Amino acid sequence: MTKSIVITGANRGIGLGLVFFFFFFRNCSRIPSRNAPKSPELQALNDPRLVIVEMDATCDDSFTNAALQVAQTVGSSGVDILISNAGVIIPVNIDAPINRKEAIKNFDVNCIATMAVTLGFKYLLKAAAKKAGHSQVVNMSSILGSVSQTWGAVAPRHFTVYSMSKAALNMYTKTLSMEWKADGIRATSIHPGWVQTDMGGEEATLTVEQSTSDMAHTIMKFGEANNGLFYDWKFEAITW
Ligand code: NDP
Repeated sequence: MTKSIVITGANRGIGLGLVFFFFFFRNCSRIPSRNAPKSPELQALNDPRLVIVEMDATCDDSFTNAALQVAQTVGSSGVDILISNAGVIIPVNIDAPINRKEAIKNFDVNCIATMAVTLGFKYLLKAAAKKAGHSQVVNMSSILGSVSQTWGAVAPRHFTVYSMSKAALNMYTKTLSMEWKADGIRATSIHPGWVQTDMGGEEATLTVEQSTSDMAHTIMKFGEANNGLFYDWKFEAITW
């Protein structure tokens, strides 16, 4: 069955990798991203099944417009899967006077923007759930956002605020999985592994292809039993 998939932050890194795997091995992708129209890799795909939409997740007008553009394309079928992948990692030194602006930016993009964008797409998720019985929100989290598995001193200390923002995102996933269940909308957090992107760096253990090919398969396996839980790219459960 053809599925409509929205992936945020799809012009580079993990988001772009997911586009390739969903696009070529699944049926359909619809992709909003801040700089997507300027991404040569996305433009090169040049396929009518792929809709590239510009969106700044931190700007209300921007994602509302993005949702409208997606709505015009998918119509009453709605959006089957929303992958909130857009994210930033802004180092904050927790042993010095806190740079509030940089701390807030981590929360704004990784957490607040994800909540706002998800709400902006709710009517499309509901429409898909009405037709197909369910739809799925996937929040791109990180193992660094697991409180039970925190690496403490092993993790770079300046990533603490990023970790906090992903832990908050995880709470949002859990809450959503309960609140929107009656509408047939499921929510699950996923950790992509340590991936060679602008954010992950060259020394990361996984290539974008390795992470996103596994993740695409994992996401397509998500069902009722996986609602409100946290997984890694290989479908291994992670404790909150
Ligand atoms: P990149 O830095 O390579 O890409 C980030 C993407 O997010 C870009 O497409 C960027 O768009 C987009 N983005 C950032 N801010 C906004 C915004 N305000 N509105 C719209 N889009 C935005 O990161 P990765 O691909 O590595 O990371 C993707 C996700 O995976 C993130 O949520 C990250 O936290 C998570 N993750 C990554 C890991 C890794 O090892 N790489 C490990 C664990 C989690 P633009 O080009 O316009 O900036």
